[in-house]
Amino acid sequence: MSETNGSPEIKKDEPRIGVYVCHCGTNIAGYLDVNKVAEGAGALPNVVVSRDYKYMCSSMGQELIENDIKEFGLNRVVVSACSPTLHEKTFRAACSRAGMNQYQFQMANIREHCSWVTKDYAKATEKAMRIVSAATHRVARNRALEERKVTIKPATLVIGGGIAGIEAALTIANAGKKVYLLEREPSIGGRMAYFDKTFPTLDCAACILTPKMSEAANHPNIELLAYCELEELSGYLGNFKAKIRKKARYIDEDLCVGCGNCWEVCPQWRSSEAVKKRKAGVKVFHHEATISPMGSCYIPTLQAVPKLPVIEKDTCIHFKTGKCNKCLEACTLGAVNFDQQDTYRDIEVGTIIVATGTKVFDAARVKELGWGRLPNVITSQEFEILCNASGPTGGQILMENGEPPKSVAILHCVGSRDENYNVHCSRVCCMYSLKIAHLVREKLDADVFEFYIDMRTPGKGFEEFYHRVMDEGVIMIRGRGAAVSDVPFTPEEEGKLMVEAEDTLLGMRRRVPVDMVILAVGLEPQEDAMDLGRMLGVSCGMSGFFIERHPKLAPAMTMAEGIFLAGTCQGPKDIPDSVAQAGAAAGQALALMDQGEVSVEGFFAEVAEDACSGCRTCVPLCPYRAIDFITDKNVARVNPALCQACGTCVAACPSSAITGQGYSDDQLVAELDGALLPLSDLFEEPEPVGAPGGGV
Ligand code: SF4
Ligand code: SF4
Repeated sequence: MSETNGSPEIKKDEPRIGVYVCHCGTNIAGYLDVNKVAEGAGALPNVVVSRDYKYMCSSMGQELIENDIKEFGLNRVVVSACSPTLHEKTFRAACSRAGMNQYQFQMANIREHCSWVTKDYAKATEKAMRIVSAATHRVARNRALEERKVTIKPATLVIGGGIAGIEAALTIANAGKKVYLLEREPSIGGRMAYFDKTFPTLDCAACILTPKMSEAANHPNIELLAYCELEELSGYLGNFKAKIRKKARYIDEDLCVGCGNCWEVCPQWRSSEAVKKRKAGVKVFHHEATISPMGSCYIPTLQAVPKLPVIEKDTCIHFKTGKCNKCLEACTLGAVNFDQQDTYRDIEVGTIIVATGTKVFDAARVKELGWGRLPNVITSQEFEILCNASGPTGGQILMENGEPPKSVAILHCVGSRDENYNVHCSRVCCMYSLKIAHLVREKLDADVFEFYIDMRTPGKGFEEFYHRVMDEGVIMIRGRGAAVSDVPFTPEEEGKLMVEAEDTLLGMRRRVPVDMVILAVGLEPQEDAMDLGRMLGVSCGMSGFFIERHPKLAPAMTMAEGIFLAGTCQGPKDIPDSVAQAGAAAGQALALMDQGEVSVEGFFAEVAEDACSGCRTCVPLCPYRAIDFITDKNVARVNPALCQACGTCVAACPSSAITGQGYSDDQLVAELDGALLPLSDLFEEPEPVGAPGGGV
């Protein structure tokens, strides 16, 4: 500890700074000299007390700060520890408890910025010292600010109508709050609507999902916005404004009763020859199989909610040539309307839950596995449709020649755990592959081979299900399926698909002939996740999924206040985990809305009216419409209640008349000055001494 200036004679407004250097166990102390940093900080201008401590975020660490504020009359505090995203609020609260203004606190990140980025002990120590110096110089100029209150509209926009979105919507609606459930597809239900059974309990997916879909559609507090897109979003926590585009279905929703007359007569079956064959009662080509009548006028599944068809303009003959009116004529209620246009509406909500799900990996990218080239190489998703009682074969597992396969190979990790495609593990593929193996063994007397890298079954009942499937006689081969070919080397291989793999248990190459290959494709972020993220102010990580506020402590929150995450848009997960996260997101949104108003950061922009030239540059730039122009005074004025401190106007003002509170020029310049002090001003000795062994 260093105590340099603890004089009881305290002048008003004189900065009195306490500096606290955290060890973070060995996370920081193992990589740099925390004692030396604390000692050096004690000699900086205005620093009254400087300490290092094992865990500053612990209650003992926080008490240390609180006691020092009272004992030494501190009016500024710097904690030099981890990222502010983790504990800034913790330390601000400690300062407030001791009577200090929380905005006169500054966090100096010496973990992510020093100890976690170099093993050079001396350099890490010097950099930590510079960061602490920058923070102390800045904090001396921090002004006391006050938090502001904003009211929260008691309504939520849930983006995505899969199982996670539905669960979140129902939770909030059941608590009496209004929900807008937005789904860009014609029906809600998401990917689960296409599953036959769910692992490990083998419940019928439709039996679980369909009641939830209709409950959501009929709930008095839920407004279903199916076949709609989010076009624009503005506003902030408690007061978001969303512009919604309702896409033209070419069906009048008020007249349509979902009888099916229109889609049954549509002659424009999706371009695939195989699907045309299916309509004529001939065999199905797996890749084009659907579980509903799929013409240009179609319904996504027979259990679709809302049960309203859509006419697909791009393929519809009427839109292309004007020569077809079959659906128009078939609809006795006059619900087909080729003149319908997209419409727009604005809604206002207090909170947003993002539940936009994932897309499945495109198996065509792994050319050596033969999908799209070799008949009877299908994806797990196509298998689900094949197995579905509403599917093209009525639930029978058939090859393209209409015969049941006598042997089936299931290849794990297609597009996952592979640096050529996705490094991440898709988490669900091992378990759904086991489910597929079980379904094949249950429905057919076929040999089943599972090719896996390693088996990941870390869920309730998952390991037991794995053993059950092994007991059913499924043959497990530990090795990634590397290639699939139809070139026979022996007479026994004639007419078969050969799966090649390195068996890592036997230490030999295997070549297994089978009739059908099922590729366990992984999960990827939605293609437009980045675009949506930009609109919402929510970032995507390296793998493209939305980033949560904290992976352990706030997995359903985002860095954008009032916006939450649910389901696989945040990362691959199974149905129970998606539902659990949806419940967490809904609970947190409800907790905010129930308060009616919340405190938001005290930062806002301020116009120095005597410096304002009245040019009005700033007024249209503010994304929150927080700037008014006062005509009689010829100056711009910021409404602090609306300002979100984005800084746009500060940067744009040609007269430098606008200051961002908490980010003023003198604070930023002082921070730079502090960081660039000569080493001799930072340490008593000119060079920091390296720890024996380099610290680690
Ligand atoms: S548009 Fe008409 S024909 Fe088509 S489902 Fe609706 S009511 Fe039936
Ligand atoms: S900083 Fe300026 S531009 Fe940004 S929200 Fe505040 S007033 Fe608007």
